[in-house]
Amino acid sequence: MSTYDLHEGTVTTILIRGARILGGTPSDILLRDGVVADIGDLAGVRADQAVDADGLIALPGLVDLHTHLREPGREDAETVETGTQAAARGGYTAVHAMANTSPVADTAGVVEQVWRLGQEYGHCDVQPVGAVTSGLGGSQLAELGAMADSAARVRVFSDDGKCVSDAVLMRRALEYVKAFDGVVAQHAQEPRLTEGAQLNEGEVSARLGLIGWPAVAEEAIIARDCLLAAHVGSRLHVCHVSTAGSVEIIRWAKSKGWDVTAEVTPHHLLLTDSCAERSPLGPYNPIYKVNPPLRTAEDVRALREALADGTIDCVATDHAPHPVEDKETEWAAAAMGMIGLETALSVVQEAMVETGLLDWAGVADRMSARPAAIGRLAGHGRPVEPGSPGNLTLFDPSVRQPVDPAAMASKSRNTPYEGLTLPGRVVATFLRGRPTVLEGKLV
Ligand SMILES: [Zn+2]
Repeated sequence: MSTYDLHEGTVTTILIRGARILGGTPSDILLRDGVVADIGDLAGVRADQAVDADGLIALPGLVDLHTHLREPGREDAETVETGTQAAARGGYTAVHAMANTSPVADTAGVVEQVWRLGQEYGHCDVQPVGAVTSGLGGSQLAELGAMADSAARVRVFSDDGKCVSDAVLMRRALEYVKAFDGVVAQHAQEPRLTEGAQLNEGEVSARLGLIGWPAVAEEAIIARDCLLAAHVGSRLHVCHVSTAGSVEIIRWAKSKGWDVTAEVTPHHLLLTDSCAERSPLGPYNPIYKVNPPLRTAEDVRALREALADGTIDCVATDHAPHPVEDKETEWAAAAMGMIGLETALSVVQEAMVETGLLDWAGVADRMSARPAAIGRLAGHGRPVEPGSPGNLTLFDPSVRQPVDPAAMASKSRNTPYEGLTLPGRVVATFLRGRPTVLEGKLV
């Protein structure tokens, strides 16, 4: 039996009163010994603690397929502890920690180190992602089998930040991961077409005189990788899809029955490359510099529709913390990336729910069930029903508040939403029946 101290005393049961599961009619949820024990009108049930969820929506704990926790190596930007605090505050109960750490997570030893850090300091589950190539060097396969067999049980492999551009290596990686039901998550970026690229290639890059990052550099790799995955009968996941053309290619691959999945980031669902010219935070603000870059309004429309119709399977944050000195510099010198764990659900409400494109059941599917399934994460992404693990998020969709970077748990402050008013607020998060967040605060 699991027990823990909550303020004082020992709590093993929590009664959540009046939560709207997936936005439905209010009902009570009893968490006992780490699982959802009962759902319904539980007015007569005694529990060690009650949580008033009047007006709150209950979702299964969110799962991120794409988080940069930065530890080991860049603890000045984020640590496993602060990154998972940010995740819990954002409603997440599991994150996949990307491999581009220092040292790179390309051996059983390093992925086990990250996994142990997660066990020790995590405010949510931490599932390490293994590198595809040694040192992200793009020339030699990493120890994929050893990472899969390690205590970390790696199933997702990615050189994210870099593209596995060598077609032979990509083919070998796709073949190799079949042995343990793994998936290669590709950062699709043709390197020669994006040398020196600063932002989306288009009217804005032309006006600003910055080197453009053309859509075709993403689309060409996605098309190639879909064909390779089909050729060897393996599983491909496309990271942070950013263009309308990419959506068309993925739609075509899925129509063939190929095992291809894809993610979109919250920022690509809300922001466009025009932010580089004019935005609440001023022109040329490198807070908007990200890879792949923010695209056009037409791309945003296509991405939203693709997430709604399931062509894009899930939302993944690409939470990319950077210290101030790496972001508050001139555009060309600034690091690429933005944080996103603590704002993801609000951005999805703004871009998808308030536009009528997804209901809350759809949000649960795209932010919990599908990412958990793609990452083969047992114990996450399950429906909110008796017998499921007690992984839950309670969310208040009725509030609107300005985004305040200073109030965030992340060690970094590089959010593009500063000052923007977004809907919704995560009120509580439960990991296996234990609160990690209550009243919007870390427990
Ligand atoms: Zn990436």
